[in-house]
Amino acid sequence: MNPNDPSTLPFLPFALPEIGEDDIAEVVDTLRSGWITTGPKAKRFEADFKAWLGDAGDDTEGLHCIAVNSATAGLHLALEALGIGPGDEVITTTHTFTATAEVVRYLGADVVLVDIDPATLNIAPAQIEAAITPRTRAILPVHYAGLAADMPAILDIAQRHGLKVVEDAAHALPTTSSGRRIGTLASDATVFSFYANKTITTGEGGMLVTRDPALAKRAQIMRLHGMSRDAFDRFTATVPSWYYEIVAPGYKYNLTDIAAALGIHQLKKAHAFAQHRAAIAARYNAAFADLPVITAPEAPAGELHPWHLYVLRLLPEAGITRDTFIERLFALGIGCSVHYIPLHLQPYWRDRYQLRAQDFPASQHAFEQMLSLPVYSRMGQADVDRVIAAVRGLLPR
Ligand SMILES: *Cc1c(COP(=O)(O)O)cnc(C)c1O
Repeated sequence: MNPNDPSTLPFLPFALPEIGEDDIAEVVDTLRSGWITTGPKAKRFEADFKAWLGDAGDDTEGLHCIAVNSATAGLHLALEALGIGPGDEVITTTHTFTATAEVVRYLGADVVLVDIDPATLNIAPAQIEAAITPRTRAILPVHYAGLAADMPAILDIAQRHGLKVVEDAAHALPTTSSGRRIGTLASDATVFSFYANKTITTGEGGMLVTRDPALAKRAQIMRLHGMSRDAFDRFTATVPSWYYEIVAPGYKYNLTDIAAALGIHQLKKAHAFAQHRAAIAARYNAAFADLPVITAPEAPAGELHPWHLYVLRLLPEAGITRDTFIERLFALGIGCSVHYIPLHLQPYWRDRYQLRAQDFPASQHAFEQMLSLPVYSRMGQADVDRVIAAVRGLLPR
């Protein structure tokens, strides 16, 4: 292997989970314990998650953390518990993954997509305000790439118009907004993802966080078939162990103890993973500063940004299209991706709401220029150097 010849280097994947011996030992312990689905480890993970949200002194009083088997499930449960249904509208960003919006359609409500702020790639508060109608019930901001959306403005709009706020925090662990940890703000619910490529992982998994006791109760019941007790409570509480009541046609959204075992240890490493990714992002931003690109937006000083994604935008002076640039990086053995093809371009969303690219100029423009570079804690210095050299080698200065 000649380190000077990129063609002899192994392929550098776009993303890789970081699973340690501690994670593995906890999973093995769970497998040996006899309790593999939702039970003591899921409960511990929920308690640990609440403690973790408060680890820098944020107020977690009254916070409920509800482990689910995906963020999609958590978003669905939150909106269901808020009573979102047919005739209602939920406003979200076009610059996201379809999971953010599809849950609104599960409930028969309508999605109103709005454009982003080109500086942050996050939903633009002015666009939210302009999209409000008498049918609007909720705002669903996404903390894109892990950078906090403008939560003070969004919460202010929600308060003035009597709207609910559910944060899609799939990328935002750990993230702060005005110094406060995402998950502890004044929104109605916040949902985190532990999908394989997210900032921490349980393979598949998510956490619904809320201060609203009624929302928490409904989500806890709907997470497991609409049963009034979950499996753990049923077998340890003093009510007869066989007794349960079905109060609604619920879902199968519970997190297994096998997955929660991973989460318990991943969570302990969340800050370290984020610091590692932030160091990579800082190196990228410094190394690309003199190139015809827009480097990834950084958080304001003092705020936490976990760098789930590092999004690079190619300026016209780059003299290379985004698609060709990605092809060349792959040819150099570097995996990259695009997050995301905006929803207004996806056939389902485009056709259902007759969406046109010109109605989302900031998202459309960013989409045409952008790609996501590898940024994960298993990358070593040499991997980062290699990405930097490849990007610099493909662009004029
Ligand atoms: C990954 C992701 C989701 C869905 O997360 P799952 O845990 O896979 O359901 C939702 N929203 C955004 C922005 C995501 O990136």
